[in-house]
Amino acid sequence: MIQENLFQVEQKIEEACKRAGRKREEVTLIAVSKTKPVSMIEEAIQYGIKDFGENKVQELVEKIGYLEEKEETLRWHLIGHLQRNKVKYIVDKVCMIHSVDSIRLAEQIQEEAKKKHIIVDILAEVNIAKENTKFGLQEEEVSFFIENVAKFDNIRVRGLMTVAPFVENPEKNRVFFEKLRKLNIDIKSKNIDNVTMDVLSMGMTGDYEVAIEEGATMVRVGTGIFGYRNYANLES
Ligand SMILES: *Cc1c(COP(=O)(O)O)cnc(C)c1O
Repeated sequence: MIQENLFQVEQKIEEACKRAGRKREEVTLIAVSKTKPVSMIEEAIQYGIKDFGENKVQELVEKIGYLEEKEETLRWHLIGHLQRNKVKYIVDKVCMIHSVDSIRLAEQIQEEAKKKHIIVDILAEVNIAKENTKFGLQEEEVSFFIENVAKFDNIRVRGLMTVAPFVENPEKNRVFFEKLRKLNIDIKSKNIDNVTMDVLSMGMTGDYEVAIEEGATMVRVGTGIFGYRNYANLES
């Protein structure tokens, strides 16, 4: 099943790149493996996936532990809300934290990164559709946030991330993806030290093709690769 799903997702990514006049290499597919067993991750690895996304610190740390011998070849992305007291567990284990949305959280990342003598790549999460159920900075706050985070020596701001609204028709999210790309360009043009703005993490199973057409450089696909998640079984 995973092989077939990956094949279809890959095809759709290629077609979306073609429609947008973009190169396939410009888009990284992140397989979102949250709630799914390590065996499924191993299967995806077999078919060439190297980038995995998780949204919970404990689950991420456990999975990295199980896959330790493959660690060198894998890239883990933290895509979910991060609490400050958990930063220390993952700061040197992930290749990117997609969900940074407060100066206080950035401060904590800076502190832990400095202790470990590393530089951490982060994205600013933006609540681009202004949904009150979602995490993320408001569009108007993003510039100020990034200018301040840029002062932290052990953090590099790579770009922006958003979780678009859940919609039946992905075309409805096009306007939000376009907004995020424009915001990214605005900030990039300021040429701030430690701020590269070369990453746009947007698009999930329901809307990644539209996101690619609008400039996504990372798409986060879970259900489309691993199937539906069953949260009811997770308690055991
Ligand atoms: C779960 C999740 C995804 C993947 O969602 P699907 O709709 O299953 O592709 C992407 N991004 C974030 C932040 C998520 O939490």
